[in-house]
Amino acid sequence: MSEAVELLSQYLGIDTTNPPGREDRGVEFLARILDREGIAYRTYEPRPGRASLRAEIPGSGERPPLILLNHIDVAPADPAEWSFDPFGGEVKDGFVHGRGALDMKGQGIMELMAVLNLKRQGLKPNRDLVFLAVADEEMGGAWGAKWLLEHHPEDFKAGLVLNEGGYVVKGLLPDRPVAMISAAEKGICWLKLTRTGPPGHGSLPHGDNALEKLTQALARLMAQDDPLTVTPIVAEYFRRLGRSWSFLGPYLEDGRPETLVNIISQSGLTALPQVSALLKNTHSLTVMKSGDKSNVIPSRAEAHLDVRLLPGRRAEDEIAHLRERLGDQGIAIEPLAVTESTQSIWDGGDFPTLADLMQKAFPEALVAPSLVFGASDSRFFRHQGVPSYGLCPVLIDMADVKMVHGLDEKISVENVEQGAQYFADLVQALCRT
Ligand SMILES: [Zn+2]
Repeated sequence: MSEAVELLSQYLGIDTTNPPGREDRGVEFLARILDREGIAYRTYEPRPGRASLRAEIPGSGERPPLILLNHIDVAPADPAEWSFDPFGGEVKDGFVHGRGALDMKGQGIMELMAVLNLKRQGLKPNRDLVFLAVADEEMGGAWGAKWLLEHHPEDFKAGLVLNEGGYVVKGLLPDRPVAMISAAEKGICWLKLTRTGPPGHGSLPHGDNALEKLTQALARLMAQDDPLTVTPIVAEYFRRLGRSWSFLGPYLEDGRPETLVNIISQSGLTALPQVSALLKNTHSLTVMKSGDKSNVIPSRAEAHLDVRLLPGRRAEDEIAHLRERLGDQGIAIEPLAVTESTQSIWDGGDFPTLADLMQKAFPEALVAPSLVFGASDSRFFRHQGVPSYGLCPVLIDMADVKMVHGLDEKISVENVEQGAQYFADLVQALCRT
């Protein structure tokens, strides 16, 4: 068994389910390895159990530091629903099994191996190489990346951050996999909508029932179709995919966003949630609360919307737009959480190097910059102006991506070993050793 596979198996055996996290157990494991190798590190623990670790191989300072970022915590896993122990770390039939294999202890070990590799070679990089394993990504980073950047910004100055956010996906294109390198993430805008009205007896409808008014407004909102908007990163994404999707031909020829919108609408591709979310500010109704008696008209109704914003779309503009679509001035809209969309450049900087190496590792794949629908820790670094990219050199079927936060998560031994090699090559290229 290779060292990377063995370490991953042990790492997956440590339960760091968030909540509660207990990332200190993961930090202990990583620290033992770093101690053995003589690599200096620092740990942070803003709350008992919520630990993060920063290890460094000091460089010559010719370039600003490179941070290899990964999170220690994992999403919950119910053993009763799994066909193997989510925290067993079993290596069997060519796979390493366990919660976090893909998201993202597997990548954490690949990054760690690249650091160990550099240290063992005894080479001095032209920049500090930082391995950063953080707590609390799965719950928003308040005790992880967000906290670290707020409380120890001096430790996290960097010229480049590499993080989770893209796989090499089979099954999207008919003829070859797509290697996604995420350069942007949608913004988050969670809203609480409240409508009040006079209470009353259910037998005497008075026409201003808060619950009815709110559901009618939501129905108006949902009935309208959101327009398709082509942002620059999505324009580039489809330009690249057009090499395999011949129906995009007219768009490749004229490069006009309207052409892309027409083709996508007519092809029925918008029926795929993964496609429409690339082109729309989306709204999901996630919570409704009102009333507790069958014969009483409630005086208050509340709904929550999970709104995700395309790059460039400001939360306040989206809220104003939603207010209009709801068509009821009596509804109060309160933002619960707002994070603007973030992005890094894909037509310059280190992106071409990342893309070239990805192409070398997966010669048959089509490499494309991508937009992520969710939010990762990359956003905290992008807010500081640090270019951050999500990439994971793991070849996976589109259907298997559901193992992330889903059941029976596992990663192939081949992916672990090739991924470790990819990160080792990447570190060589970016640190010019
Ligand atoms: Zn993750």
